[in-house]
Amino acid sequence: MPQKTKETPMMEQYLEYKKQYPDAFLLYRVGDFYEMFYDDAVKGSQILELTLTSRNKKADEGIPMCGVPHHAIEGYIDTLVDKGYKVAVCDQLENPADAQGKMVKRGVTRVVTPGTIMDKSDQAKENNYITAITANKDVFGLAYADLSTGEVKVTSVTSQLDLTNELQNLDTKETVVSGSFPQKYLDQLRKYGILISKLDELDDNYSFDFSQISSDLEVSTVKLLISYLIKTQMRSLDHLKAAQSYETSSYLLMDHSAQSNLELFKNIRTNKKSGTLLWLLDETKTAMGSRLLKQWLARPLISVEKLKERQHFVQVFMDNYFQRSSFQDYLTKVYDLERLAGRVAYGTVNGRDLIQLKTSLEQVPEIKSILLDIGDDELTTYVEKIDEVADIRELIDKAIVEEAPISITGGGLIKEGYNDQLDKYLDASKNGKQWLATLKAKEQELTGINNLKIGYNKVFGYYIEVSRANIDKIPEDRYQRKQTLVNAERYITPELKDKESLILEAEEKSKSLEYHLFDQIRKKIKDQIRRIQSLANILSRLDVLQSFAVVSEEYHYVAPEFISEHELNITNGRHPVVEKVLSNNSYIPNNVNFDDQTDILLITGPNMSGKSTYMRQMALTVIMAQIGCFVPADSAQMPIFDHIFTRIGAADDLISGDSTFMVEMREANDALKNATPNSLIIFDEIGRGTATYDGMALAQAIIEYIDKHVKAMTLFSTHYHELTELESQLPGLKNVHVDASEENGDLVFLHKVLPGPADKSYGIHVAKLAGLPDDVLVRADKILSSLEETSVHTTTSDSIHEDVQPVVKVQPEPEVVPETKPEPKSEPEVEEDTQMSLFPETSKPTKKFSSKENQVLKELNNQDLMSVTPIDAINLLYKWQKKLK
Ligand code: ATP
Repeated sequence: MPQKTKETPMMEQYLEYKKQYPDAFLLYRVGDFYEMFYDDAVKGSQILELTLTSRNKKADEGIPMCGVPHHAIEGYIDTLVDKGYKVAVCDQLENPADAQGKMVKRGVTRVVTPGTIMDKSDQAKENNYITAITANKDVFGLAYADLSTGEVKVTSVTSQLDLTNELQNLDTKETVVSGSFPQKYLDQLRKYGILISKLDELDDNYSFDFSQISSDLEVSTVKLLISYLIKTQMRSLDHLKAAQSYETSSYLLMDHSAQSNLELFKNIRTNKKSGTLLWLLDETKTAMGSRLLKQWLARPLISVEKLKERQHFVQVFMDNYFQRSSFQDYLTKVYDLERLAGRVAYGTVNGRDLIQLKTSLEQVPEIKSILLDIGDDELTTYVEKIDEVADIRELIDKAIVEEAPISITGGGLIKEGYNDQLDKYLDASKNGKQWLATLKAKEQELTGINNLKIGYNKVFGYYIEVSRANIDKIPEDRYQRKQTLVNAERYITPELKDKESLILEAEEKSKSLEYHLFDQIRKKIKDQIRRIQSLANILSRLDVLQSFAVVSEEYHYVAPEFISEHELNITNGRHPVVEKVLSNNSYIPNNVNFDDQTDILLITGPNMSGKSTYMRQMALTVIMAQIGCFVPADSAQMPIFDHIFTRIGAADDLISGDSTFMVEMREANDALKNATPNSLIIFDEIGRGTATYDGMALAQAIIEYIDKHVKAMTLFSTHYHELTELESQLPGLKNVHVDASEENGDLVFLHKVLPGPADKSYGIHVAKLAGLPDDVLVRADKILSSLEETSVHTTTSDSIHEDVQPVVKVQPEPEVVPETKPEPKSEPEVEEDTQMSLFPETSKPTKKFSSKENQVLKELNNQDLMSVTPIDAINLLYKWQKKLK
């Protein structure tokens, strides 16, 4: 930063502004450039790949400096903001020529930040959310807005976890806090890469609709957000809609990891939209529709009534193919009304935008008539509410030329016939130009110079140009010489100069009148912004619903039936994305059945058989059902779920310092603590991230806990086959397995989910399919046989809970010491683990028992031998033997 030396007046002015925006790059206008100085210049030159120079090169300590041409500033701002920086633009507020030697007046005219950037054309289908958060003891207020669409929402959450989740789900680009916001929370948020902006003073000097918010905390959170927007944007925010309060619990809840595990918006491997549920469902025709679909997916509904309404519209669009396709044709011509309205309010709208607005509005009467033609009562009621905003359409049609230029100051924008005065000016300039054409013909004839031209430049105005070869033909004193070129001379005449001032004056006046008229039109439209926004709202809803119809029809989805019982029946369900990706109907459909007694489906099956796919399929089906879409199945009855918890795949959270297993346990804990009987839990191989017995013990304990306390519908996949024995002990648990068969030693995946447990995992077969070296496979096979022989699984009556037998009996855990050579020379070494047993009872290692055997053992164990007569004992023995046979 600056040394303590005397600065020039300009640098003093610069530093004054820089002091006000310490956390932003200050782009300071000097002549035709925006310059950066000091640290901004050093850093900016690296980021923007600019040449770093030095101001005041003679001084020992030159001031680092770099700059960008004024006309290219937007691209540079975008790059900085994309990389998460803020930019303050300091403009010249007067013409330097008028400053008369004094310092040119300057001022910061806008601050662009990641949360407030508008008009990113490559992100038309994305919302760009800026958030504000406040804290009151353990309650947090969270408000968010999309400046480009005017959406403002606010909520309260009661834990830091919920706060972080909500911010991550919103994918907020920037979060505003007041200076007093607790530092400890901020540190956590920064770890997740959330850009924090501080604002100390609230601005009360604006009108904004708070009527739909009742909580003080929420009101102050919205105030913080609006104050920040006013401070940075320095212009009208009239397009911001009334803030709406929402409760997260009014929607099907999914935390951020559930959303990303289920790949709703981003493919986990590629981080792209392709291969996600959004990608599958997005057949919308407008950017607004696409954004709304994303919002619906992030917040599925829990109201059956609202869902039925959406389903009805989807059905109507499915039943009326022809109307639907012409509706789509017209929708395609509807531009982004939400963002156009935002630009109108912002004052950044240009002639082309208004033509886009007009074109969009022109589609509305057609759209209405197509939809009314369908003749569905509910749709008719909905469509009749559509305001065509015809007055604005007509205004633009009357006023703005079709091929409007981008600039709003250069004229050529307003149609003839819209304003008398403008017509006069335009006429004058047109007549003037006609006069010039006549003059040219007249002079050519008089001088006999056929290539005599009349031209114009900014320095000399209009001139007559004669090529050097023809100069001699000009009668003496006819023209006054003005400029000499290599091959020609340029002349003027008093008559030409007279006409020139008339033409130029008319042009000048017409340009400024056009700008004035445009501004008036813009203001008239601004007064109607709410109407345009509600039209946008209706069209985007209809767009999403037609999109659901397209997808549902193409992939033969059905309307799910919502039931109030704790039951679920999906017949021939499919994973929608895998089905789309797999070609020629090769997806194997599967049923999912939870009767009123069942809470847990324990899924076993070989690696690669389709366990994860089956579980994800169920979760995606629930989400699709609760956004109002049809679902990939032949039939589906399901309750309304309040929360989806997932523990899928291995992910470590290095940012928050958690290992893979810690994340696994945290997610499991979250589900066990917060799930209700109306929740859905997806646990994919819980426990596999630690030692076998720890993992198995935890898995069993978690299953028992869900069965006893949580009672949420749970899909639990596992490779711990021992856990399948729990079926005989836990009334709410059912085994299912994904079928596979072995043909000539090769594994064949059938992907079919059937009742009962699987026999084994076929891990080594899958390793073979993956192409592991034969040496490794042979060795693994040998180690496996050895382990199976020395299996330490056991069953006894000892239990974690009194009434439930542990399937896992913790014995010293066998640990395979890997060989270095591929050829086995000896049997695998099995070492005794000295770790403390969770279940200290000992029992002889024995083979794995079937459920019948377990039952007999249980009965034997529960028998009070002292109270049985010998004859009863014989009878019992007979009964048990019969059972075992
Ligand atoms: P692991 O135990 O190794 O994690 P898994 O049993 O969870 O394996 P998935 O990952 O669900 O197996 O499925 C493996 C692959 O099998 C999927 O990528 C998919 O291509 C295919 N698959 C799964 N289910 C089906 C199905 N029902 N029909 C057709 N293909 C399927």
